[in-house]
This record gives sequence, C-alpha cells and structure tokens, in this order.
Amino acid sequence: MRLLQKNLCMIAMSLAMASAGHAAPLVEPTLHIRPQASGAGRVALTLDACGGQTDSRILSALVDNKIPATIFVTGIWLKRNAAAVEIMRAHPDLFELENHGGHHIPAVDTPRKIYGIRSAGSPDAGLAEVESGAAALAGTGEPAPKWFRGATAEYSPSAIAMIRKLGFKVAGFSINGDGGSLLGAKETARRIAAAKDGDVIISHINQPTHAAGEGVVQGLLALKAKGLTFVRLDDAEGMGNNGTTE
Ligand SMILES: [Zn+2]
Repeated sequence: MRLLQKNLCMIAMSLAMASAGHAAPLVEPTLHIRPQASGAGRVALTLDACGGQTDSRILSALVDNKIPATIFVTGIWLKRNAAAVEIMRAHPDLFELENHGGHHIPAVDTPRKIYGIRSAGSPDAGLAEVESGAAALAGTGEPAPKWFRGATAEYSPSAIAMIRKLGFKVAGFSINGDGGSLLGAKETARRIAAAKDGDVIISHINQPTHAAGEGVVQGLLALKAKGLTFVRLDDAEGMGNNGTTE
C-alpha cells in the first residue's frame, strides 16, 4: 500500500511537471570577472536595492573602508531612499548604480511565480520593467546604466535576449552572499569571506533589520584584510553564461 501511494505520488508529480513544461525553464546566469592572476585577487561586490530602506551598516562600511560596489537599484527604492542616493552620488569613485528594474518584477515573459513574486508575464511587461528602471536612474542624473539584474535574478532565455537587445548586459553572480538577505550573520560572513579572485558577490543593501547585513560587513572586512581588492562591474571584464554578456 505504501509503495502504491508512493508511485501514485510520483505519477502526480511528473504530470504536474509535464503541464508546467510548456514554458521554457528559467536560468540563473553566473557572472565572473577576469581574474587578476597576480596578487591577492580581486572580486566584484554587487548589492541589490530591491525596495524598502537602506542598510546604513553596509553603506557606512563601504564608505569608511573605501570599498567600491555596484548597486542594483529599482525605481521604487530610488524614490524612497533619497538620502542614501545622495551619499552614493557624493562618492562616484565608490558607487556605480545599475538597473534592477522599475518595480522589482522578475523579467520573465511568461506568467509564473518565482520565490512568490509574480513575473512580468509577457514580453511587453518585461520590456517595461527594464526600461522603467533605466528611466528612474536617468531621473537621478546618474550615468546611463549598462547592466541589468532582474528581480530574483532568474530569467527566461527569451527575456535575456530582449534585455541584451536593449543594450544591457545581464548581471549574474558567482557567490550568493546573503541568500536573499535571509541568512544569519555568521553564514553570510562565511560565504562572502570565501570569495576568490574573479568572483562576483551578490547581497542586499535594502534590509537594515536583517542579521545578514551585519554578516555582509564582516565578510567584506575579512576579504579586505586578506588583501583582496574590489572592482565595480564597469571597471572589470565581466564574463557571464547563458548569453548574458558576450
Ligand atoms: Zn531584488
């Protein structure tokens, strides 16, 4: 009886997978920067500002320790965090602002949910998300963005093609530093401190109440102490898979 139940369950699962199978599988592209080859190595720190507030623990640590970072901002975050934007603009040598979309909607052109967030759902809506993010950045007087990272960092292959056609590179990553800002401080610090020459780290700068933010700071300081240097995506040669950069 047990076995029968198990088999029925597996049949139900494979039917469910088959019915979802008409939509192309999503990809989560990776991104590396060209390794330094000599020296202690260099890494690129990318921080997403999806919505919400600003984690001043991270922002202050970056300024105080002169750690450059690429910040992926949405239109909604830009609107609510003028003071943080002001600090970033006051340090153009440290902060590069790039496009995280207008409304933090996954740039996936078929209707589905990713980590509980509803996708753009059509090519037009995906295009609007990318273009509205760029327009919001232009409104702040920032240089035009060259990189795009969609909400959830997952894409349909056709959405990647659309984003590339608009002239943006798609920013994957090689180290998931904070697990969507949901990890504890210790694990976040451990993951970031493990970065090696050529890695691209992703974490979040918009969750000031989460323990992960403390771990981001600890991990970055550990890398700095080991002699690694930090570069922004514009200053490095980014190499992504799934047709995201070439
Ligand atoms: Zn985000």
